[in-house]
Amino acid sequence: MKAWQNNIRRVVPYTPGEQPKETDVIKLNTNENPYPPSPRLLEVKQNLDELRLYPDPEAKDLVHAIASYHGLGDNQVFVGVGSDDVLAMSFLTFFNSGMPVYFPDITYSFYDVWADLFRIPYQTKALNESFEIVASDYYEKNGGVVFPNPNAPTGRLLGVDVVEDIIAHNRDVIVIVDEAYIDFGGVSALSLIDKYENLLVVRTFSKSRSLAGMRIGYAMGNEDLIKALNDVKYSFNSYTMNCQTILFGVESIKDDDYFKETVAKVVATREWFQEELKRLSFNFVKSDSNFVFASHPFVAAKDIFEAAKKEKIYVRYFDKPRIDNYLRISIGTDKQMKVLVEFLKTFLNM
Ligand code: PMP
Repeated sequence: MKAWQNNIRRVVPYTPGEQPKETDVIKLNTNENPYPPSPRLLEVKQNLDELRLYPDPEAKDLVHAIASYHGLGDNQVFVGVGSDDVLAMSFLTFFNSGMPVYFPDITYSFYDVWADLFRIPYQTKALNESFEIVASDYYEKNGGVVFPNPNAPTGRLLGVDVVEDIIAHNRDVIVIVDEAYIDFGGVSALSLIDKYENLLVVRTFSKSRSLAGMRIGYAMGNEDLIKALNDVKYSFNSYTMNCQTILFGVESIKDDDYFKETVAKVVATREWFQEELKRLSFNFVKSDSNFVFASHPFVAAKDIFEAAKKEKIYVRYFDKPRIDNYLRISIGTDKQMKVLVEFLKTFLNM
């Protein structure tokens, strides 16, 4: 090895779900929304001349729109390039004690990647047999806590009382609740941010607002946390949110009827799809998100995954301990889910 090669920061990167090139596939592998974003976004006019200028580094209009929507002050909201950016900035900003950060063993597979990238020690805490987070596992002294609620890829929701219990037992560190999927069913921890100054709630426009391609995420917490995040952001890249993104984000927030309607459609399809899965003898975690995590008692998940892919139906399979016999299936349109159900019936000989 050459001397300079020893000094390269080596990381094992996160592997995102496949984005197939063909357009005639049924894509249920990355928890995207099957419906387009609010049609009001078509009305957004970008002034070309404005693009000569750098965007507003504070993304004030977007921050204000999000803050007003949630009844918060503008100083309680931080925005970033998708919640991945917001979460990465949060790891960098808040997990600095040298003590291990705690997160579940089965969870969003980016957490350990950021921890490795930023040299943050961590410990995973095993979900119980029902894939539930066990609050008491997070009581010991640690360097911070992060978990999604609902969890991914399981889809299991933690009651807000349990979330509060975890926050209350960790007042000396920052607790990040990653609510990427909360709009599809759960009760948010947002109401707790005034009570607990160590709580940061992270959300995204990628799922419930159908804007994965736009890259908008945000964090909500007390103003000291938000200031700390902004200080780190301005020390890294001031202009993370581009002009177009800010305009689209604001417009999306304004169209609340469309947002609610789209979420309700996804939820209705999810409930129907879970009934179908039951009929096909699948075991699954009751989902409060826009995906279902399912396992069949007799047929290997990997076989179903591969056979579905041949039929141009993409679902997600994780070749990882404890979950290698599960499929994570994003909720598509009714029509797409019916095609999947028909495929499963044929494949399982039912
Ligand atoms: N958190 C969780 C739990 C997720 O599943 C995802 C989606 N991959 C994200 C955060 C990041 O989403 P985005 O960067 O699109 O906001």
